[in-house]
Amino acid sequence: MRTALVAGNWKMNGDSGFISELMTGLKTDVPASGVEVLVCPPSVYLSQVKVQTEGSVIALGAQNVSEQKNGAFTGEISLSMLQDLGCEYVILGHSERRSIYAETDELVAQKFIATVETGLKPILCVGETLAEREADQTLEVVGRQIRAVVEAAGIEAFADAVIAYEPVWAIGTGKTATPEQAQEVHAAIREMIAQSDAGTAAKIRILYGGSVNAGNAAELFANEDVDGGLVGGASLKANDFVAICQAAGA
Ligand code: PEP
Repeated sequence: MRTALVAGNWKMNGDSGFISELMTGLKTDVPASGVEVLVCPPSVYLSQVKVQTEGSVIALGAQNVSEQKNGAFTGEISLSMLQDLGCEYVILGHSERRSIYAETDELVAQKFIATVETGLKPILCVGETLAEREADQTLEVVGRQIRAVVEAAGIEAFADAVIAYEPVWAIGTGKTATPEQAQEVHAAIREMIAQSDAGTAAKIRILYGGSVNAGNAAELFANEDVDGGLVGGASLKANDFVAICQAAGA
């Protein structure tokens, strides 16, 4: 039995006042059981959010991290810093990191290895572009992105990992994969993991991401292989995010 996870990816949004209000709303209203709730603020606000999560069930995560341990890497943030600030999870390989900042499968794999070695839990994002879906390459692309990490890190490294299937064409566009499209890819991802280890495949949580909102969450999460969501835009509105968490916990 996998406990659902709903993760809010705030991206580069908000300021301290906005975040304080958002957290006040979330803290009182997110379900206390049946679903794990995670927020991933911009890194400069991690400390503020950590304080605001105290006494709540909300866990803290980061949106990205350096693959390096420490040293002369101007502007980067290390895993030990995230750990020091109380982060439990790190989002890795988000499509915006892959497309805007040219992160390769190999770099994502290095970050994944460093994350697991530090004792944090990676949320590995995978997904195809619209052109790749239209060319019927969805499973090939997702398979390549997952294989790159399994081969570099070993399947044991997936023990506490989470995978997020995020079709690039659905992120921030208001277009959502149908429940059938999501289930098809999620089942294929579980099967890919099962080829390395059936126990890990049965246990690993596979989140759907791409324009999840309060209205479509329940039908997406009702699928057997959809174990919650990675939520962008709707995670910035307390009521919507709470409704999504309730849908996952129902
Ligand atoms: C995301 O950024 O991971 C995401 C899924 O965004 P949105 O929910 O806004 O599509």
